[in-house]
Amino acid sequence: MLNKNIESLLNDQLNREFMSALFYLNLASKAEILGYKGVAHWFKVQYHEENFHAMKIYDYILTRGAAVHLKDISIPTISANSVEDLFNETLIHEKEVTDYINSIMDSVLAMKDHASQAFMQWYVLEQVEEEANVEEILQKINILKENNLGVLTLDSELGNRSLTVPLDFTQKLPPI
Ligand code: MG
Repeated sequence: MLNKNIESLLNDQLNREFMSALFYLNLASKAEILGYKGVAHWFKVQYHEENFHAMKIYDYILTRGAAVHLKDISIPTISANSVEDLFNETLIHEKEVTDYINSIMDSVLAMKDHASQAFMQWYVLEQVEEEANVEEILQKINILKENNLGVLTLDSELGNRSLTVPLDFTQKLPPI
């Protein structure tokens, strides 16, 4: 049985992952309005990944005999009007997520909940990857800044991203 405090923290994170999904869908729509369909595609793939992150927590909470609490989700307002700013907002967002993940890890370590520690380990490493991916894109944008045709090349590259997580959440989710 999951400790009540951990149950509450995991539920908060579950809701935040769904919020992240909608945040990325919002970014996807902004990118499409700006005319960058490849960038929009990248954000839509991210939308699916965030739903996957949420559903892994959903399954874990239920497997530990605790209850899922879905809440009202407030999506952050996006003011970005360029591809660079969309990714700047993404990096800020992912750094906030990393802080939340680390603070949950602190709590499960303090509670000596070894199963939750093992479970959260995946998210700790996933955040390292999320931040690195966005930093790499921002770095490329900086390199290409002098040349708008270059941003279109990047747009085409981002359009090739493929979905690697399952879409059917009614099936047992595979370990990553
Ligand atoms: Mg996530």
